[in-house]
Amino acid sequence: MGLVLPKVKVIAESDEEVSLQLDGIDRSYANAIRRFCIAEVPSMAIDDIVILENSSVLYDEILAHRLGMVPLRTDLERYVLPEKCDCGSPLGCQKCRVLLVLDAVAQDKPRTVMSGDLVSEDREIKPVSPNIPLVKLAAGQAVKLEAYARLGRGKEHAKWQPATVAALTEGKGEGVFNLKVESSGSLPAKEIVTRAIEKLEEKLAELHKDVSDKVNDEK
Ligand SMILES: [Zn+2]
Repeated sequence: MGLVLPKVKVIAESDEEVSLQLDGIDRSYANAIRRFCIAEVPSMAIDDIVILENSSVLYDEILAHRLGMVPLRTDLERYVLPEKCDCGSPLGCQKCRVLLVLDAVAQDKPRTVMSGDLVSEDREIKPVSPNIPLVKLAAGQAVKLEAYARLGRGKEHAKWQPATVAALTEGKGEGVFNLKVESSGSLPAKEIVTRAIEKLEEKLAELHKDVSDKVNDEK
C-alpha cells in the first residue's frame, strides 16, 4: 500500500492568525488537531484571587470572573500545568503559578481600573492588552487584590482557550482541508497548532502504550 505523506502549506501567518492547508490527511485527524487547538493546548489565566480590599460596586465574585477572562501572555517552556508540577503543592510554585497584584485607588475623582493596572511578578506573563476595563471606581473607592494565574486547558473552562477561532473547512480535492486558527493573544497562532499536534501525538503514544501493555498482559 502506498502511503501518501501529509503536506502542510501555510496560506497566511501572523501572531494573531494562521491559515494552513492540510493535504493528504484524514478528516478525523484534521478535526482532532482543530479540537486540540481549542481544548488541549494550555494557556495562562487568572484562577484564584485573594481580595484585600474591594469598596467598588462590583461583588468579589464578579471581579474574579472578569479577571479570569483577561487573556494573558503564556510561556509553555517555563510553566507547567499544576497537576504536572513536581511541587505537588496546592499553593503552587515558580513553575506552575504567577502572581499578579492589583492595587488601585480612586483618589479625588472616578477612575476605570484597566487590565494594564495588574502588576505581574513575571514580566513575560501579563495581560495581552492593557486596555481591558475591569472595574469603575468612584472617588474614594479602592480595589486591592492578589491574583494567581496558572496554566489550564479549554476543556476545563473557556478562559483557558488559547484559540478564539479554530475552523476546519473543505479544501479543493480529496483529503484537503483548510485550518484557520485565531489566537486570543496568549500564544502565537502557529504555536497553538504545533502544540496541538504535539499533544495529539502524546495522546496517541499513551494509547499505543496502554494497548500494547494490555496485549502483553494477556499473553
Ligand atoms: Zn509547582
